[in-house]
Amino acid sequence: RAIRALKGGGTMAEAMGVNTAWMKVVIFVVAAVLACISGFLYAHLQRAVNPTPFGLNYGIEYLFMAVVGGVGHVWGAVLGAGILTILKDVLQGVLPKLLGANGNFETIVFGVLMVLLLQYARDGIWPFIKKLFPSGPPVAAPEQAERLPLRAKPQAGELILDVKAARKEFGGLVAVNDVSFQVRAGEIIGLIGPNGAGKSTTFNLVTGVLPATRGEVLYRGEQISGLPSREIVKRGIGRTFQHVHLLPTMTVLENVAIGAHLRGDFAAQGGVTAAILRMNQNEEAKLLHEAARQLERVGLADCMYMEAGSLALGQQRILEIARALCCDPALLLLDEPAAGLRYKEKQALAELLKKLKGEGMSVLLVEHDMDFVMNLTDRLVVMEFGTRIAQGVPEDVQKNPAVLEAYLGGVE
Ligand code: ADP
Ligand code: MG
Repeated sequence: RAIRALKGGGTMAEAMGVNTAWMKVVIFVVAAVLACISGFLYAHLQRAVNPTPFGLNYGIEYLFMAVVGGVGHVWGAVLGAGILTILKDVLQGVLPKLLGANGNFETIVFGVLMVLLLQYARDGIWPFIKKLFPSGPPVAAPEQAERLPLRAKPQAGELILDVKAARKEFGGLVAVNDVSFQVRAGEIIGLIGPNGAGKSTTFNLVTGVLPATRGEVLYRGEQISGLPSREIVKRGIGRTFQHVHLLPTMTVLENVAIGAHLRGDFAAQGGVTAAILRMNQNEEAKLLHEAARQLERVGLADCMYMEAGSLALGQQRILEIARALCCDPALLLLDEPAAGLRYKEKQALAELLKKLKGEGMSVLLVEHDMDFVMNLTDRLVVMEFGTRIAQGVPEDVQKNPAVLEAYLGGVE
């Protein structure tokens, strides 16, 4: 699952605690081992080895096999190899009879095939075969499984996040201009401001997605600025993204389970080898059970086995919250969770956040919608052009002239 989460850049995977560089090494080694086994078998079959079968042409052919079968599917490789090998054999018999013996006509047929494939079946042929044999969800949530251990949560009121004069410059643009604020355990803090104010950038500084130009971020007294995002999530800061980052063809359940990546004892369960051989079922059951529990918590349990890409945008945002909750965070960072939600959904989201707060969760919430944050947050931090222009309880901030200026263009 961690390897599949690399698709689409790796920012999300890192934010869920996946060591993406290491995962790429794993992929490389697994591929190399398979190539070694193939070469070994080939040499034994042929009893002699020369460089020709290992040339560029064959490399292209193997790649073609994978594309024809479907690169996103394990059985796609077998299917693609089968189709191409048989097709080549048939064509070599049929084409000379039709077009004469002098000419390498099968190359043309393969070229046409490639064009058709890329036009009409980018994911290869395997998905069509799979559709003929509909099966249940590929991964089912277990009814019962042992619960995963939880981290020690901070006491209510404890200073949990301390951002000290954080600064981020993009070339000449100061996106975050020495911004300071604090979050205490059990609070919902709203970070608001007009578009381009630097809210998401501040988020990325806290979660380690971007390195800060200057300034410090302390989490429960520990300096976390400069750490990669997978180390930060390990310490208990879960996040969602403004532009949803999920794996559209995986089920909702599996998407959420990515959040639990750090919760299992992967190494003790045999690591990558055990995962490939599916010998970590016990652990997997625990993780999926946790994912199912979090989906229930956010009210998305009905969609558990749907493809994540088929959900409405609002539901995709809720999915991201469930995934962040799977990290067992003490602090939850939500980047515009209400964007694209309808009125009813917004109310449900507000209820959910209140419930989480009641359970002792601290939330830092970036939001656009003033009405949404007003009734929900304990304190607000207002940003404009990268600078903090106000902070305080919502009632005061609402009357603050600088805030009115930024939002409405003036007091009158
Ligand atoms: P907000 O989330 O408050 O709408 P952002 O934090 O996304 O604002 O952006 C703040 C400013 O920083 C904007 O002017 C934006 O164009 C700029 N910015 C954000 N990310 C980058 C980047 N990776 N490179 C250059 N400029 C950026
Ligand atoms: Mg933003």
